[in-house]
Amino acid sequence: HADAAMYLAKASGRANYRFFEPELAERAYADLVLEAELALALTRDEFQLFYQPQIDARSGQLRGAEALLRWRHPQRGLLTPDAFIDVAERHRLMLPLSEWVMREAARQSRDWHERGIAAVPIAVNLSSMQFRLEDFDRVVALVLQDAGVPGTWLELELTERMLMDDIERVPALLQALRALGLSISVDDFGTGYTSLSHLGRLPVDKLKIDQSFVAGLPGDSKAVAITRAIVQMGLGLGLQVSAEGVRDAGQAQLLGDWGCHSLQGELIGPPMPAAEFEHWLSQRRAAS
Ligand code: C2E
Ligand code: MG
Ligand code: MG
Ligand code: MG
Repeated sequence: HADAAMYLAKASGRANYRFFEPELAERAYADLVLEAELALALTRDEFQLFYQPQIDARSGQLRGAEALLRWRHPQRGLLTPDAFIDVAERHRLMLPLSEWVMREAARQSRDWHERGIAAVPIAVNLSSMQFRLEDFDRVVALVLQDAGVPGTWLELELTERMLMDDIERVPALLQALRALGLSISVDDFGTGYTSLSHLGRLPVDKLKIDQSFVAGLPGDSKAVAITRAIVQMGLGLGLQVSAEGVRDAGQAQLLGDWGCHSLQGELIGPPMPAAEFEHWLSQRRAAS
């Protein structure tokens, strides 16, 4: 076995030929376990969406909520996506999981609308695998139809990488999704390689400034310059601009002054289970 591992390590290139064969084996094993557990988790109802509020930078009113996936792992407790998304993507479990996320967000949105809790859209993060589905717009249409909600109640968050993935196909797909009423956000904006001329032509609605830039406000002069430029550009293109990872009042103030429309982050509220989100909202409304 050790010989085989050594052979593989050598075969895969000199740079890899060293001490980490046991580590590799351990990781492969951990992935295998995770893969098996993931496959069961959906049927065992172990996934849950948390919701993080997004507020208007001026009025402070609720503007939306982002759905963030959590896995209530029976042994390891509450897991965030970084612990399992990669494995899910590699093993094609991401498609059923992503569809579950959309259905659950649509169901929650309907529940909040019907109970008069919050008439705001819920934002869903798309996986690249899902976005590459040839009939993705039809999948979305079906989800909306089954949940009995209009497209305007959901927002789709895509990364720059996904937008640039297929320059031929993406604009038409985005158009089709917008025709269903959904709005399109570019997540983690500023971290990718979007060509600005292309961005101007893409049918998107919102830029979400990546939290790494927001984290540098107000002290880091480079972060200030970049963040401000992104806000300016977004406004110039007629897009909504939103900031994530807002942690303190100084950051919120600056972003609002620059014209950023909405804010999301720990300062406003953490990602919360639906019931907690409702509690957070009623407290906030009582206080204002
Ligand atoms: P994202 O879409 O950029 O989501 C924002 C992340 O920042 C979330 O991490 C959120 O909990 C975290 N966050 C919010 N406010 C603050 C803050 O003030 N400070 C800091 N440091 N962090 C903050 P989370 O929930 O761990 O999600 C990580 C990423 O996983 C998300 O990044 C998104 O790309 C992905 N993800 C989450 N849910 C889903 C899903 O349902 N499907 C897919 N495909 N990806 C998902
Ligand atoms: Mg997001
Ligand atoms: Mg983000
Ligand atoms: Mg992200």
